Amino acid sequence: MKIHLRQIPPEGLHLEGEEECPLSTLQSEELQSTGPLHYELDAGISEGALWVNGSLVQPVELRCVRCLESFPFEIEVKDFTVHTDLTGPEEIDLAPFVREDVLLNLPPHPHCDREGGRICPAPVAHRAEEGETGSKPPTDWSALDELNIRES
Ligand SMILES: [Zn+2]
Repeated sequence: MKIHLRQIPPEGLHLEGEEECPLSTLQSEELQSTGPLHYELDAGISEGALWVNGSLVQPVELRCVRCLESFPFEIEVKDFTVHTDLTGPEEIDLAPFVREDVLLNLPPHPHCDREGGRICPAPVAHRAEEGETGSKPPTDWSALDELNIRES
């Protein structure tokens, strides 16, 4: 995904289309791209810098951390922005910026019911054991608190 600076007119350039998945080097069991990256971007040059903003959508398959089944998901970057000083070549490759932002919007612990909108086939007992991300496991202190309550 390269932009030639000479192609950018003074009023800016609108880019829209599809591009080979920028994550292809990062394929793993947890993450598989299932199609090209879709982008809608506006680019321009001002005060010696290139700015780009727009949105990205990358269809992938994630693996649920509970049932270990793959499910389809779309990584959306709604506010993709690049602002980079023009110091070097006349061709700027946006791929590293795109890759970074797509990865930042990747759910860290994918759940097929939460991200995939389906019913997770993992047993309920297993889910309760694992707990939800964000809730902290009980510490020794909280056990002590309960003890105090019972005594008073
Ligand atoms: Zn699941």
